[in-house]
Amino acid sequence: MWKGNQEPGPKGVGAAMNAKVDLDRVHVVPQLDFSDPPPNSDRRAFMMRSSLAAAIATLTGAPIAAFAQTPAKAPPLSPTLDVVRKSKGPVMTTVEEFYKVGPGPSSSHTIGPMRITYDFYQRCTKLPEAQLSQATALKVNLFGSLSATGKGHGTERACLAGIVGKEPATVDPAFLDELAAKPDQVFPVKLGGKSINASLKDIVYDAPKGDFPHPNTMTCKLLAGDKVLLEQEYYSVGGGFIEWKGYTPPKKGAPKYPYETMKEVLAHCARDKISLAQLAMANEVSVSGKSEAEVNAHLDKIMGAMRATVKTGLDAPTSTLPGPIKLKTKAHDVYVSAQKQPGEARRAIGLVAAYALAGSEENARGHLVITAPTGGSAGVLPAVVYSLGDAGAKLSDDKIRNGLLAAAVVGYLCKHNATLSAAEGGCQAEIGVASAMGAALIAQAYDDPPQVAANGAEGALEHHLGMTCDPVAGFVQIPCIERCAFGAVKAWTGYLIAKNEVPVNRRVDLDSTVTAMALTAKEMNSKYKETSEGGLAVSVTLC
Ligand code: SF4
Repeated sequence: MWKGNQEPGPKGVGAAMNAKVDLDRVHVVPQLDFSDPPPNSDRRAFMMRSSLAAAIATLTGAPIAAFAQTPAKAPPLSPTLDVVRKSKGPVMTTVEEFYKVGPGPSSSHTIGPMRITYDFYQRCTKLPEAQLSQATALKVNLFGSLSATGKGHGTERACLAGIVGKEPATVDPAFLDELAAKPDQVFPVKLGGKSINASLKDIVYDAPKGDFPHPNTMTCKLLAGDKVLLEQEYYSVGGGFIEWKGYTPPKKGAPKYPYETMKEVLAHCARDKISLAQLAMANEVSVSGKSEAEVNAHLDKIMGAMRATVKTGLDAPTSTLPGPIKLKTKAHDVYVSAQKQPGEARRAIGLVAAYALAGSEENARGHLVITAPTGGSAGVLPAVVYSLGDAGAKLSDDKIRNGLLAAAVVGYLCKHNATLSAAEGGCQAEIGVASAMGAALIAQAYDDPPQVAANGAEGALEHHLGMTCDPVAGFVQIPCIERCAFGAVKAWTGYLIAKNEVPVNRRVDLDSTVTAMALTAKEMNSKYKETSEGGLAVSVTLC
């Protein structure tokens, strides 16, 4: 039956957040599918199928979910695609690995390298005293993208902080600020009974180009004169994750709900009538061996750090960020002004943007940030979390914690089947993934069905596909800071579309979009992969 035009939705972002889809008011608009048939399919059969589906929809007034609207099947990925996971099997990532706190501005260029040098420092402390007594120096060499854009990120300061024994999650931002202000400082490093000196001179920007095992390769050495006492080659593989030559993943338990795709996640949820958050928590416990209370404690730490980074960024008066761009901060100004805007929607969008700017500016200051999934996207998820809490929708911590679990599932899938590294996939892999995670977080926090979370994440990621990474002067400032604001607003947009559409009408599923991101990453010119050799990095003139 024809139902007439659908009426406009509820007014304003706030009202739309709580809108329920009224199926009685949704009308069917039958249309022939004039698009090209999928490759290798029969053109005539495809057109017949489309015509038949439209005719039935016209006669019955109902679309045929399994017929006319079945999402296209994702094409198989080439096994030589190096942005795609190299190991097979279900997702095994845990929230402790995924959500990490460390110094900004980049998960791959500061958090990862600092975790690496801190790891090397710890390895050194475990050497026999006879070896340590010979030690004279520590040396860190940076290669590839770490060398090409590391200076802009402050990679050398993060590396030095780790090698002198500062822990990434707890390092005082003032220590890093001091290093930038007084780069000639020398620090004693205590290794057993021996104390050796380390300074920024021991962190070497080595070859930016070459045949490296990973775009973000680095080596750490403990020396006794010319003799090498200990050497390790490491890779900062994106999202703050680190690996090393000969790395084998740690032993973990089998996940209660094994999955490699969102399709499998949704099937588990439907069969056991559980939410995305419940699935994620069950897997956390079975994979990590930790209790629910321990997992929640980590999520609370992450939630607290996200709120703190937004609050600190909003409170900071307008200033100039470090680096040659001389970029003025704007989070505080946008925040103050957005509150005075007429109309709920204008205020809501302005405030979400301000929260994201605040988190991202904290990252640009080199202060602590939370990988969700990366440092470059540092403003996106904190803005979503902030907008759902006391400053916005006033949802409980419990709901937001569940949202972080659902967001993690989306992030895991992107990591598992594509990449989180801008050096491999451009900005779609950072801000795009963060935005997708944000949409799922909102849906879960509002207790929407898993399909709405998956659709919201799909929409948010889809509309970041192809986005390049071209930080001006190698600094995570332009376009990164404003890009976080757009990513956070798009997270809300993705959620609101998914919440208000008829879920079965969605033509693209998250798995297809993650595949598209991997394919796009593979074909993206390396100039747009965090090398600062293309796009805004070359079109913007600094004077
Ligand atoms: S452009 Fe995007 S991916 Fe590149 S550094 Fe900035 S935020 Fe990260």
